[in-house]
Amino acid sequence: MKIGFIGLGNMGAPMAANLVAAGHAVVGFDLVADVPDGVIKASSATDAVTRQDVVITMLPNGQVLKSVASEILVNMDRGAALIDCSTVDVESTREVAVSATALGLHAVDAPVSGGIGGAAAGTLTFMAGGTLKAFGIAEPLFDVMGQKTVYCGDSGAGQAAKICNNMILGISMLGTCEAFALADKLGLDRQKMFDVVSTSSGYSWSMNVYCPAPGIGPESPADNGYEPGFAAELMLKDLRLSQQAAQVVDADTPMGQHAKDLYETFVEEEGGHGKDFSAMLPRLEKRRRQ
Ligand code: NAD
Repeated sequence: MKIGFIGLGNMGAPMAANLVAAGHAVVGFDLVADVPDGVIKASSATDAVTRQDVVITMLPNGQVLKSVASEILVNMDRGAALIDCSTVDVESTREVAVSATALGLHAVDAPVSGGIGGAAAGTLTFMAGGTLKAFGIAEPLFDVMGQKTVYCGDSGAGQAAKICNNMILGISMLGTCEAFALADKLGLDRQKMFDVVSTSSGYSWSMNVYCPAPGIGPESPADNGYEPGFAAELMLKDLRLSQQAAQVVDADTPMGQHAKDLYETFVEEEGGHGKDFSAMLPRLEKRRRQ
């Protein structure tokens, strides 16, 4: 396929490189980042999207997505597809999809999980929203950049799935970290704690796969000085999106709200910026009961 790719940062660059490696012709544009090997550098976003079958965006947030969309949609060929892989708010996604559809384009929201490692290895999970026709155009590209795709429903459903998943992740990581901090103070050995919880009803991805305690469980950012991994500020971004969405649809999400508040304090006031989101464990470990 002929593909335009906008946003070649930590995630976008390796995703674009994988498309090139699979034989697709990729023209890329980023305000700052260099294009990876094999990607043709465009001089503007418009230049990157002209006469392409598909345009992929991998941008920081909904505001940037809307601003880029306002520039590129009118320059895309009728019948082409916009695949937005960024994590953004549901409303921005739906707004962009409506504008795209009005111009005779297809639109898919397809946020990912799997992080930078998954982007490089081509093992991302895509959660996609849009019409089945639009999804059909995008699916072969998801197979190149990822190992699993779930079609979630209409436009915005991919973002909804991503936001809900990461709200669970933020809450479960906090639960895992505070349980370790409590276990420490109760004199329970961390390895014993892991051996029990990872095979009992408290098991979770946060405990079993991405254990926040250094030297326990499979290798994780905790074993590397809490270097991300998945940075605390990215978790904060996703928790904020969950609370923004909950506000719009009037959903009661008390644990999500509390997780958002804790990560906000950690990132903005306690030096958590740039640390992995599992660094909540050393934070809690140092504290006394409030
Ligand atoms: P990043 O900041 O490394 O990359 C974003 C890129 O977009 C930057 O290179 C920036 O220069 C470019 N950009 C910004 N405005 C632009 C514009 N107007 N035109 C062209 N380029 C522009 O971020 P990232 O880590 O690659 O994340 C991208 C998206 O993926 C985000 O929405 C993020 O939430 C999501 N995500 C990230 C991860 C992760 O682990 N990093 C995991 C899952 C999802």
